[in-house]
Amino acid sequence: MLLDKLLIASHNKGKVKQIQQLLEPLGIQVISAAEIDVPDVEETGTTFSENAILKAEAACAHTGLPCLADDSGLEVDALGGKPGVYSKRWAFETGETLTYQRLLNELKGLPNTQRQAKFICVLALAIPNQKTELFEGFCQGTIATEARGEGGFGYDPVFVPTGKERTWAQMNDAERAETSHRGHALRKFQEFLTNK
Ligand code: IMP
Repeated sequence: MLLDKLLIASHNKGKVKQIQQLLEPLGIQVISAAEIDVPDVEETGTTFSENAILKAEAACAHTGLPCLADDSGLEVDALGGKPGVYSKRWAFETGETLTYQRLLNELKGLPNTQRQAKFICVLALAIPNQKTELFEGFCQGTIATEARGEGGFGYDPVFVPTGKERTWAQMNDAERAETSHRGHALRKFQEFLTNK
C-alpha cells in the first residue's frame, strides 16, 4: 500500500520539514497542516503514543485524508525522565524564550557522565476506516553544556547523539535524519508502506 497523498498533522515547521524530506522521495505528496484547515488538538494523553493517536485521528476525521502525526520529546536521566511528553510546555514554564535554556540551567555543573538523555518519537498513521498504526523511534545522547549550531529546532542546539561530537543543530539535514528518533521512526514507516 503506497500512499499517494498524506497530511502531516502538525504545525511544527521543523517536524514537517524533516518528514517531508524523507517521504517525498518515495513519491508521496506531503501536505502540511499549514496548507489545509486542521484545528489544533489538546494533547491530553500521558504517553507519546496516546498523543500521536489523538492528533492523527482528529486530523483524519476532520479532513477524510490519510494523516500522519508525530509526538516526540526528550527524557533526561538526571531529571528522572523529565520533560518527556511535556517537552514543549516544560521549556517555557519558567519564562524562558529559548526551548533549551531551562534544560541548560537545570543541568548546570553536571559532568558529561550525568548528562545522558533520550529522544523519543511516535508516529501515528490514521487512514479512514482502518486501524491506526504506530511507529516508534529513539535516539540516545547527551546534553551539551552550551548551545551550539543554527540548524534544526527545539532542543537541537544542545543534543549530541551518542557517537557524535556535534549537536543536531550543527549537522546537515541528512546527517541529522540518519541519527534522529524521527528518522528512525520514519524508516519503520517506510518499511511498513513498502511491505503492505
Ligand atoms: P510535541 O510532540 O508537539 O508535543 O512537541 C515535542 C517537543 O519536543 C517539541 O516542541 C520540541 O521542543 C521537542 N522536540 C521533539 N523532537 C525534537 C527534535 O527532533 N529536535 C529538537 N527538539 C525536539
